[in-house]
Amino acid sequence: MPTSPERLERAIAMTERLIAFDTTSRNSNLALIEDVKAYLDGLGIGSRLTYDDGGGKANLWCTIGPEERGGIVLSGHTDVVPVDGQEWTTDPFSLTRRGGKLYGRGACDMKAFVAIALSLAPEMATADLKVPIHFAFSYDEEVGCIGVQRIVDDVVANLPLPRAVIVGEPTSMKLIGGNKGTRIYKTRVTGVPGHSSDPRHGANAITAASRMIAFIDDLGQEIAANPQTDSPFDPPYTTLTVGVIDGGTAHNIIPEFCDITWGMRVLPDDDGDVYENRIRNYCTEVLEPTLKAIAPHTGFEHRKLVDSAGLRPEHESAAETLVRQLTGLNQSSVVSFGTEAGTFQRAGMPAVIFGPGSIDQAHKADEFIAVDQMAQCVDFMVDLIDWAKTAD
Ligand SMILES: [Zn+2]
Repeated sequence: MPTSPERLERAIAMTERLIAFDTTSRNSNLALIEDVKAYLDGLGIGSRLTYDDGGGKANLWCTIGPEERGGIVLSGHTDVVPVDGQEWTTDPFSLTRRGGKLYGRGACDMKAFVAIALSLAPEMATADLKVPIHFAFSYDEEVGCIGVQRIVDDVVANLPLPRAVIVGEPTSMKLIGGNKGTRIYKTRVTGVPGHSSDPRHGANAITAASRMIAFIDDLGQEIAANPQTDSPFDPPYTTLTVGVIDGGTAHNIIPEFCDITWGMRVLPDDDGDVYENRIRNYCTEVLEPTLKAIAPHTGFEHRKLVDSAGLRPEHESAAETLVRQLTGLNQSSVVSFGTEAGTFQRAGMPAVIFGPGSIDQAHKADEFIAVDQMAQCVDFMVDLIDWAKTAD
């Protein structure tokens, strides 16, 4: 059935409304959340907000249809990546329509998906749904899928568990059943400063850090040498990376500190703790004794900044089955970028990634979404509403 032009225009207008909020992850998203909440209130749909520790950011959860049973979750993040240093030819926070494309920060990643769901909320609210449709709109996805954990915790503690979750990240409306997990760590190495002319009295933090980095690299090669040959992921093993190093002040000072930011992309059925512990143990047992021989306060301090679960492909899950049934798609694949889907799955809610627009345009200058992609997603959600009116 071709998209009704009115529905498509309503979805575009809502996308424009959401893009106008600068919800770069470092900013509060409350203005957007309050606007969405007021809009839903106007439709008679109540929202649950869960906040970050500072109260400056919030997630929004709502239920349309019967409260007493789990339904279908449409999940999207409200934050966007920064535009700093990018050469935009349009105003990133004002939707610009050119030809068949809509330009703006968050157009494909992923305000259009959120907007399509919101633009259809009036139809959902009057449709007499038998299976409820939930919205889960999060903060701080782009900095490590942080906000969504509080939605999931709230749902698990207080609400009937939904049967399926659709995370509308840009997949060009292809069905994606898996992604690797992401872990990010920051390690501070503390040494003892001194004059470089007499290294005997100092403990060089950069040198110690370099040994840890070499160990991470060796471990990464060891893992790569044992790939999971039947894995759909490319590469078919967990990877380790050192991303940032920061230490030292001058050529003639023994550096006291060195900070390393490192991380892993973990296969969904691999255990990141195993690698984390090997790295920790190497620092404690092999590297620290040399430092502590100079001064006991020296050593390695590791902080885990992000631990976002991967999505394990489940071809027969309720989420995959539903999207296949509604779209006629009969294949699913996996992606390498991180999403919130694994956080839902880990809590017992089957999830897939399925949304409009291409990841190729995400995070870049002149980010856009094709109007045609939006139309396909509108069609899909209209079909979902029809299904939810009669399903049991
Ligand atoms: Zn995204």
